Amino acid sequence: MNQVDSSSMSQANPPGLVPWLNPQWSQWLQLSDRLGHAYLLSGPKGIGLEQFVDAVVQSTLCVQPVNGQACGHCQGCHLLKGQQHPDFYHLKRLEDKKDIAVDQVRGLINKLNETSHQGGYKVIWIEGVEFLNQSAFNALLKTLEEPAAHTLFLLTTHEIGRLPATIKSRCQQLSFTPPALEDAIEWLHQKAPQVDGALVKRALRLNWGAPLDALQWIEAAKFEEDTQWKDGLKQLQSGRKSVSQVVSEWLKWSTPITVFDYFYQWSVSAVRSVTYVSVAQAEKESDQAWSLSAEQTLQLQNWLRFQQATLQAKENWLGNANKELVLETLCLEWLEVQQIAEPFQSVFQSRIQKGSLS
Ligand SMILES: [Zn+2]
Repeated sequence: MNQVDSSSMSQANPPGLVPWLNPQWSQWLQLSDRLGHAYLLSGPKGIGLEQFVDAVVQSTLCVQPVNGQACGHCQGCHLLKGQQHPDFYHLKRLEDKKDIAVDQVRGLINKLNETSHQGGYKVIWIEGVEFLNQSAFNALLKTLEEPAAHTLFLLTTHEIGRLPATIKSRCQQLSFTPPALEDAIEWLHQKAPQVDGALVKRALRLNWGAPLDALQWIEAAKFEEDTQWKDGLKQLQSGRKSVSQVVSEWLKWSTPITVFDYFYQWSVSAVRSVTYVSVAQAEKESDQAWSLSAEQTLQLQNWLRFQQATLQAKENWLGNANKELVLETLCLEWLEVQQIAEPFQSVFQSRIQKGSLS
């Protein structure tokens, strides 16, 4: 009775792929008829770039792909699943290493030269290509300049701005963007139906609109940390806890680096609320042009300064500075900003009240 619809069959997408990357998948299928030798895939973290590469690797190494997708049961698929495919090479930064060393690239190139083709493609995935150090980049460049036949390089990065132009110019580029907010919300509701809408939105905001990171945040019950972060700041402000007490609690988290995202997102909301209030005021006074009062300008400057301080603190943290000290300093900066200007919520409220009284 149910006839198989061949048009929808041909548009089927790999099972592990997130829905917002389906258009890119269709684009890839068109490319794969006349495959180039090197592709640079870039996009923010947490939107499914890695899943996309997985699908590409699987379909390229599958012996009998169906509609461009891996069949899942041929020899190629089995070898890949067992992580034993002789023609797949996955290069990434070793754990607790700052960069991808030249030895790793040389080792890869030697293996590529030694092994003979099994008839199909050799696929090389270099994950986090921005972590290649200078000599590693140079070693890779030579290989990209003189590619062997049936070799497919897939380079991925979350920070395309850090790549040298020489690498970019030798690859075909595919860029990936986060889904629209409503698509991300819908997907998260399907994945975590028990979670309420406000928390889903907060998870997305704190994770820069990246649904996979937001889901991880929800699943790891990070909202408890979020609450602890807010409580810590309240206790700090009221003098019930010292800076070092609050910081030592944050440092117990599994990924304390999240603190910087919390601070950053908060400062973004603060900046927004200052400008929003002044726009609302301008509209109320039927003034076409809106401008900031001296007080608002000061607030804005403070929050922007704090935003910069947050980014700098995160850099210092990643640069192996004393973690405790970095967070304590940031807390002190936060307290200072609080003293100069009222917290943005209360400023927001007092402005609204003034507006309604006048
Ligand atoms: Zn297969």
